[in-house]
Amino acid sequence: MTQAYNKPVPVPQQESDFYWEKAKQHELWLRSCKDCGSAYFYPRDISPCCFSKNTEWVQASGNAALFTYGIVHRAPHPGFVGDVPFVTAIVELEEGPKMAANVVMDDPTPEKLQIGMALEVVFEDITDTIALPKFRPA
Ligand SMILES: [Zn+2]
Repeated sequence: MTQAYNKPVPVPQQESDFYWEKAKQHELWLRSCKDCGSAYFYPRDISPCCFSKNTEWVQASGNAALFTYGIVHRAPHPGFVGDVPFVTAIVELEEGPKMAANVVMDDPTPEKLQIGMALEVVFEDITDTIALPKFRPA
C-alpha cells in the first residue's frame, strides 16, 4: 500500500458501502435486477433497466473486455504525475455492465491495446478501507 496516497479517494455512500467492503476483500460485486435479470453498474438500489426495487448483489467474475480507452500523457491532478502515461478505459464486464477503470500495464501504447481484448480485474489497496478495481490484460 502506498504510504501517502495523494489522489482523489472514493467516498462510499449508503448504496455502495457493500461494494466497497467487497472491493477491499478484492472481490467485484454488482447489483442485479431480479425482475429482468440485468446486472448493472454503478451500485444503486433501483435498477436502471426497469426501475424495479427488486434487486440483489451478485459477485462478478472479474472478466471483462476492453470497450474503449485513452492513454493519458498529461497528469490531470498532481497525484498522477508519477503515473503517466496510464490507461483510462471503459471496460465491458462479462455480466454486461460497463464501468470506468484503469487498465494496468507497463509503458502503454495503442499497439498493446486492442478493443475487445480480454481483461481481468485486479485491486489496488489505496487506503485502509478502500481498494480500487482496475483491470489488466488476461
Ligand atoms: Zn430490471
